[in-house]
Amino acid sequence: MPIIDFKEIPLSSSAGSARDQFELFAREFLQVQGFRIVEAPDRGPDQGRDLIVEELRTGVAGETRIRWLVSCKHKAHSGRSVSPEDEPDIHDRVRTHSCSGFSGFYSTIQSSGLSAKLNASGLPFEVMVYDPELIERQLLQSKEGISLIERFFPDSWKRWRGENPGVAEIFETLPELRCSHCDTNLLTDTSRGTVVLWKKYPREGAGDTVQHVYCCCKGDCDRILKQQFGQKGLIDGWKGLSDLTIPTDYLRWQMSIVNGLRRGDSYSDDAFENLKEILVNIYPLVARNLTEPEKERIRSLGVLPWGLGGYG
Ligand SMILES: [Zn+2]
Repeated sequence: MPIIDFKEIPLSSSAGSARDQFELFAREFLQVQGFRIVEAPDRGPDQGRDLIVEELRTGVAGETRIRWLVSCKHKAHSGRSVSPEDEPDIHDRVRTHSCSGFSGFYSTIQSSGLSAKLNASGLPFEVMVYDPELIERQLLQSKEGISLIERFFPDSWKRWRGENPGVAEIFETLPELRCSHCDTNLLTDTSRGTVVLWKKYPREGAGDTVQHVYCCCKGDCDRILKQQFGQKGLIDGWKGLSDLTIPTDYLRWQMSIVNGLRRGDSYSDDAFENLKEILVNIYPLVARNLTEPEKERIRSLGVLPWGLGGYG
C-alpha cells in the first residue's frame, strides 16, 4: 500500500505561470539524492519539463561528472502510464543538452512500450527511471526525504504518521530501556518487553510497599530474574511494554502511580529510581516532537532556578 498520493501535487500549471509543483518537487528530490541542479527546465511538448542535473561519481580513476537530462511527467491525476509518445526524441534531447544520461521522473509507472524503448540495447546514454514506488522508497530513507513528504504531500504524511507513530525528539539521544538480565534495548521492539514490579503482600488498610521495579524480556530473562527477586513475602505484578506505549495506557498507569502514592504506597530507593527511568524513557514514544519555540523555552527553563519557575 503506497504511502504517498501523488495527486496531492496539482497538475502542471498553464504556460507562463509560476513553476509547477511537480517539477519543483523533482528538483528538491534530486538535490536530496545528491545531484547538483545545473539548469532549470524548458517546457517541452505536452507540458513535460526537462531538468539538467549533475552527478559526481567517485571511482578508482578519480571523479567523473555525469550530466543527466531529467524528464518530469506528472500523470497521477489521469492515472495513465507514461508512454513512448510522452517521451519523443529522447536521443536528440539528450544530445542537444550535452548529457550522457536520461532520467524519467514520473508520478505514474512507465508503459511497457516506454520500458522497452528505454531498456533497448545499444543506447548511447545511461537510463534511470524514478517511478512512484522508487521515489517513495528513497524519500523514506532520510530525514530530508521525510521533510519533503511533509512539505509536498501533507495529507499522505498525516495519514501515514497516524498509523506509524515514531519516537518524538525530546531528548538528545534516543530513549532506551534495557533488559535487567541480558541488556537488550527493549524499546526497539516493545512487544518483547515487560515491566515487573515486586511488592510486599498487602496489609489491610496500608498502601503497597514496592521493593523492586525493572524491565526485562518476556520468557527466559523474566524467569531467571523471578528466581533472583522473588523472595518470601513478595508478590509480582507486570505490565507489557507494548501496552505502556499506547498513550492512554501510559497515562492510566501514571495516574494509578500518583493515586497510589496518595493512598500511602511506598517505594524502595532503587524501585523508585527505576520507575522514574521507565516513565521517562517511554515518554518519547507517546509524545510529539517539540516545536522550535518550545525547545527554546525548555532551554531557558533549564537555566532558571526552581524558585523562579525553572527546572534548575
Ligand atoms: Zn533479556
